[in-house]
Amino acid sequence: ERTSESLTLLDGNTDSYTEAGTDAQVLIVEDKEFYATQLIEMLAADGHESTVVERPEESIDRLLNNEYDMILIELRLEDHDALRLCAQIRSIDAVRHVPILLLAEESDTERLAKAMDLGCNDYVVRPVDRNELLARCRTQVRRRRYQAKLRDNYERSFEMALTDGLTGLYNRRYLEAHLSGLIERIVGGRRHLSVIMFDIDHFKKINDTHGHAAGDEVLQELCARVMKGVRSFDTVARYGGEEFVVVMPETDMGVATTVAERLRHGVADQPFTAITADQKLEVTISIGVAEVDVAGGETTTSLINRADKALYVAKSKGRNRVMCWSVDGILDPTGASMSDDT
Ligand code: GH3
Ligand code: MG
Ligand code: MG
Repeated sequence: ERTSESLTLLDGNTDSYTEAGTDAQVLIVEDKEFYATQLIEMLAADGHESTVVERPEESIDRLLNNEYDMILIELRLEDHDALRLCAQIRSIDAVRHVPILLLAEESDTERLAKAMDLGCNDYVVRPVDRNELLARCRTQVRRRRYQAKLRDNYERSFEMALTDGLTGLYNRRYLEAHLSGLIERIVGGRRHLSVIMFDIDHFKKINDTHGHAAGDEVLQELCARVMKGVRSFDTVARYGGEEFVVVMPETDMGVATTVAERLRHGVADQPFTAITADQKLEVTISIGVAEVDVAGGETTTSLINRADKALYVAKSKGRNRVMCWSVDGILDPTGASMSDDT
């Protein structure tokens, strides 16, 4: 949380003390109408909105389908075991974080101890004092909201650390970790794994002529087109500014080359619509393809380097083309070996 804040990935203000702990959605499990009515009235003083259910099954149902800030459970339910309900709530992933407050009698000490053991957060003993009930509820609601905020921020900063904000694609850091895991798994076996690396041709000119915003639009549309051209289990990552990598499991060089040609056509055949450029833009990409050498010694770096070399040749041969790195040198899939003149 602090790291993300210091990188200004997140706005601060996750202070639990700024949270009032009022106006909460409260679920009450109570089978005696008199008590239920009394609780609803007391809780309303803090703006809480209460829903009353009589049976435990119904409360689980409600917790799963609604957002509650806390649940109040009568320890002395006539036909049901309140402790069992507490245990159940704590065992269901989707609802386990909801604070549980118990309503008990003075003589329930032993069962209360058991309840706390099961993960209940607090209890109130009858006769219920309104101010005490409200104070205990506020504490739970406050903590619940604080934790939800922390969890949310954690997930957001996690996502930001691994994805690219402009295109939503995975970033280089994610790609390298992902790829190294895949390579490790297939080395020494018979399975295939190929990567495609591509780079926009003369992208600097697009920026210089139509502005950086138009360039950004091109990057976004490019990403959408590429996503359409690959399978769901292929991974597309933004490797650098205008450089992308596609990781294709279970794919040999031949198939990868076909996919690369398809991506190249998908970009070059239709001009791009960049609103900020107020005209259609012709965009092309150059592509390098490489396959994992399962004989051993392969690393993410060595594989990416080969794709990068092939890409470099594609650039020098005139751009808007696909080149493959094979053991015989860098090949133009449409014809001759390029190994001699590169
Ligand atoms: P080449 O065909 O050789 O690849 O030429 P190029 O102009 O594409 O290559 P160069 O590396 O000279 O320029 C890449 C440009 O990409 C420069 C940089 O400003 C631009 N760029 C990188 N990231 C972004 C981005 O996120 N948005 C925009 N609009 N431009 C970007
Ligand atoms: Mg470029
Ligand atoms: Mg580049």
